[in-house]
Amino acid sequence: MDRTADQAFMKEINKSVVLNRIRFHSPISRSQISADTGLNKATVSALIDELIREDLVLEVGHGRSRVGRRPIMLLFNAKVGTVLGVELGVEYIRIVSTDLSAKVIATHSRPLPQDADATEVIEALVTAIEEAKRQAPATNYGVVGIGIGVPGLVDFRRGIVLRAPHLNWANIPLKAMLESRLGVPVFVDNEANAGALGEKLYGAATHISNLLYISAGTGIGTGIVIGNELLRGADGIVGEFGHMSIDTHGVPCTCGNAGCWELYASERAVTSGYHRLTGQGLSFEEVLHRVHESDPAALQVFQTVGQYLGVGIVNLINGLNPSMILLGNRLSEAGRSVTDAVQQVMATRCFIGPYSKVTVQVSSLGRDACAIGAAALVLHHFFSGTSARDHINVSTV
Ligand SMILES: [Zn+2]
Repeated sequence: MDRTADQAFMKEINKSVVLNRIRFHSPISRSQISADTGLNKATVSALIDELIREDLVLEVGHGRSRVGRRPIMLLFNAKVGTVLGVELGVEYIRIVSTDLSAKVIATHSRPLPQDADATEVIEALVTAIEEAKRQAPATNYGVVGIGIGVPGLVDFRRGIVLRAPHLNWANIPLKAMLESRLGVPVFVDNEANAGALGEKLYGAATHISNLLYISAGTGIGTGIVIGNELLRGADGIVGEFGHMSIDTHGVPCTCGNAGCWELYASERAVTSGYHRLTGQGLSFEEVLHRVHESDPAALQVFQTVGQYLGVGIVNLINGLNPSMILLGNRLSEAGRSVTDAVQQVMATRCFIGPYSKVTVQVSSLGRDACAIGAAALVLHHFFSGTSARDHINVSTV
């Protein structure tokens, strides 16, 4: 790299450092940014002038200072653009439209046609996203990107869904397909990774360095944050603990293994458990409704499923030593009916439990966790070291 290119690169990094300081710590003064980042005041001021011209930073009122003139405070201008975060479920599409701080402005939800092939699902996805895009507020930057959480193995770097058994997908280049149709940068990730990122950046885990996000719905996916980093592994497909066997002689699974965790702690386990107990074939939503009405059979089913969930969680805690477990997706909507059972199992079975202060709670972002996390993927990219101006060309299409 020659000297000019080197300087330009350093400037981009410094600008990103300054902007991120304002994003997560505003209102903040120029001198505070200088003190926090170690950049000299002249550099900080010059970068902030640029960010103000780019409409990403606003000056407001006056802050407090013990001596001398009171400094002008800086705010991040989150309303200058929009992000669409998408959860591609097995039975539904959920889209959140957020500002540049992942604050939800609008939510759109629609059912997916059942037994649809990949082409039909992608068509439904494009239609839903285009509608959300049309309804997005008019802003300088427009829709800066679209993030999508998918239930399956995803090559995040290339945006390819390698395998999504519940959707019956294999090797779908979703990023390329959607970018060519929508004209906006698209980021595709596993839905549990998205959930973990959403909680880490914008939810209950902002101050937690070691976190497990367990998405229990049609199957189980896990998003793992260790040392403030989302684990991706050699091929980017870390976290398929849903196919960790918890019973060697258990039920055969479509993945080739037997006794997989997700066969015992998923929506299917709830509906089939309720059917076994009562003879009634209810949907997951109906059993969930009954648990909220304290129906004894529904409570018993969720307790059993919660215990199985706990057995898998104990394995994960023993192996990964997180300080927080967040339960997401539809199983978590049973609240304490499921978390109490998980905690009971942890208390009796967890080897490292007595030495660790791990807490278990329901996802703070609720039904939007995956979609907000998908939006966070976009924001993470948008604000990570490359100039916002570089993105305007593609974002205002
Ligand atoms: Zn399996």
